[in-house]
Amino acid sequence: MTTVKRAKRSSDYPMLSIREAWLRVSSALEPLPPVRKPLVGAAGLVLAEDIIAKDSMPPFAAASMDGYAVISSDPSLEKSITGEQDAGVKLDLSVEPGTAVRIMTGAPLPTGADAVVPFEETGENEGVVHLKVIPKPGGNVRPVGLDMAAGETVLPKGLVLGPAEIGLLAALGQFQVWVHPRPRISIMSTGNELVAADETLRPGQIRDSNSLTLSVAAAACGFEVTAASCPVRDDSGKLELALVEALNNSDAVITSGGVSMGKLDLVKPLLAKLGEVLIGRVAMKPGRPFTFAMLQGKPVFGLPGFPVSSLVCFEQFVRPALRLMSGLNLLWRPCVEVSLAENLRHDPDRTEFQRAVVKADHDGFIAYSTGSQSSGRLKSLVGANALLILPIGTGDAPVGSRVKAFLIDQPETEEELPISH
Ligand code: AMP
Ligand code: MG
Repeated sequence: MTTVKRAKRSSDYPMLSIREAWLRVSSALEPLPPVRKPLVGAAGLVLAEDIIAKDSMPPFAAASMDGYAVISSDPSLEKSITGEQDAGVKLDLSVEPGTAVRIMTGAPLPTGADAVVPFEETGENEGVVHLKVIPKPGGNVRPVGLDMAAGETVLPKGLVLGPAEIGLLAALGQFQVWVHPRPRISIMSTGNELVAADETLRPGQIRDSNSLTLSVAAAACGFEVTAASCPVRDDSGKLELALVEALNNSDAVITSGGVSMGKLDLVKPLLAKLGEVLIGRVAMKPGRPFTFAMLQGKPVFGLPGFPVSSLVCFEQFVRPALRLMSGLNLLWRPCVEVSLAENLRHDPDRTEFQRAVVKADHDGFIAYSTGSQSSGRLKSLVGANALLILPIGTGDAPVGSRVKAFLIDQPETEEELPISH
């Protein structure tokens, strides 16, 4: 007689609030250890050291306009021109009362001079310049150390290296910097029903869309992604092999599918066997079976298989976690108050993230639902730019009521999770 293995009816894992779940994720993770990188490869990464200027910039007082270098306290407005100073060289020129030196932008100021009068405010005739204005001390001169003084901390640890920061490092001659690397991520889809997206479907099969969706979502945040080329079957041995290989090749693993209560949902028990499961259920919709475990000191995010659930869990937990591992401080997208353009159904048993299009008008933000919010309906995320947050413990939300929403097409602006439940 064959025995039919039944799915378990209750979970061994406590139902955590979103806040508790995030606390567990964030306490288990820290920024990846710093690596030394050449400047060109450091753009967008987080600085892991304070940068102190070894020299002052500019290192010499320089003209900031083309004109004549003069002594500002010299009252004569007619001066004989004694030479010409170009940028890029330092001639042995000096300015005395009654004289001026023709000077180009960026050129070092001749000895004695303390101001530059631009060409536009002068007239020149037979080696004599006539000033039409009285020069001000320091006028049109970039003094030593205007950009930065020697010894000054010019870029603090924790800063994201953008164009200006990289430019400053190049100006200082610092071509290698200590930065936190971006985590390398492996993505694996699990499920017997799945075939690679380019294969022909047989009855009962569906295409694996999550691998690509999650890869694109991770790449959009700048993370380096390797996706398993084909979905892994719901088989403990195969899952273990794939997971161990993924762990060996990356700093974090994202799985999709196999974390619910069915008899072939084998990911949670496997994670419990190989490491420590810190989250097994979260009071959120979609995404209740979201799972988080630490294996060999690396995070594994077990996302539910339904396409909307996996992407919402990525947005809500994985993305901020990977940002934290990158050393970034700003983890959360802007969270704003919006007015509902229509009635929304909501069960009070979980916090729900409803997909919406938010538009700004003169009164603030208005949210339009993207229609049916089934977690299998990826179309509910197509074109959506916001996740409306309908808190646990509250019921249906009538038209005109105000709720909070994450603006998911905007860059992160918040350090702390803006959800208290
Ligand atoms: P699971 O979380 O494994 O119970 O999967 C729930 C449902 O999500 C499955 O029945 C599929 O319809 C769907 N699903 C699971 N994995 C994927 C995937 N990689 N791509 C698209 N749909 C998936
Ligand atoms: Mg499955």
